[in-house]
Amino acid sequence: MNLSVVHTVWELRQALKTIWRSELLLGFVPTMGALHEGHAALIRQANRECGFTAVSIFVNPIQFDRAEDYELYARTLPEDLELCRSCGAQLVFAPATEEMYPAASLTHVQVSGVTDYLCGQHRGPHFRGVATVVAKLLHLIQPARAYFGEKDAQQVAVVRRMVADLNFPVEIIGVPTVREADGLALSSRNRRLSPSERRDAPALYQALLAARAAIEHGSGPAEARRDALAVLASTPSIRVEYLEVVDDESQTPVSRIDGPVRISAAVWLGSTRLIDNTTATPPRLSRSEGGAPGQRL
Ligand code: AMP
Repeated sequence: MNLSVVHTVWELRQALKTIWRSELLLGFVPTMGALHEGHAALIRQANRECGFTAVSIFVNPIQFDRAEDYELYARTLPEDLELCRSCGAQLVFAPATEEMYPAASLTHVQVSGVTDYLCGQHRGPHFRGVATVVAKLLHLIQPARAYFGEKDAQQVAVVRRMVADLNFPVEIIGVPTVREADGLALSSRNRRLSPSERRDAPALYQALLAARAAIEHGSGPAEARRDALAVLASTPSIRVEYLEVVDDESQTPVSRIDGPVRISAAVWLGSTRLIDNTTATPPRLSRSEGGAPGQRL
């Protein structure tokens, strides 16, 4: 099937009318463009599991906490469309800002609790902007399934909670993080790293792996955190914004580890902010039991 590209809500509804009426499972991948192999993994999985795959490409202004980050965000629509086509997407919705926000919104979606720590604590209105735009896109596209990268684990938790609390009829699918050979998680912001920052950036994943190894050997969250921070301290160009061991569902730091947990971090290399995370399971659980969620603070 060919790739259709639409820019307005009216065109989008025209393009989806027959799909909504059909038996086809509609899969949706929301993105901000500057697409890379991480996005490609989401689109390919949607394409494998669904009869029709729609992708949105929209740099959402209301989720940026810094004007500079919004302005510098890479916009590469022709290349993005090529990638969508090669991954099997059938429809791309690439609206202008005025199409999504014809007037300044007076209505927002605020997911509390899950946004108290990590990026929620450090990026002001970020998740309010994310939840609001995802709610709008889910209403516009009405997919059966929507695909999100685990690279943004807190975002996945926020969207899952919003969808559960507000009864959106959609299944949220988390897709594993795609990494470079040296472990750096693919990100649209990686292209802003200088050559020396790029060389130092894999320390972020190395630090997460150190924490994971500690947890898998039975360490508690404080010890795991200390091991990870020691790795980051040996790379002076890296400034740590946060590094926490959290319960994945609540995205809240744990005081004890008695089940699978997520280790999440945000760091700065110069003026570029990178985030990454991984999961870890303590030894008693990794052997047999599936595991209960970690004890919350
Ligand atoms: P973005 O364009 O950065 O808003 O990302 C769009 C979607 O792609 C989000 O669900 C991200 O979590 C996901 N994504 C971004 N980078 C990666 C990656 N390296 N691996 C897997 N998914 C990713």
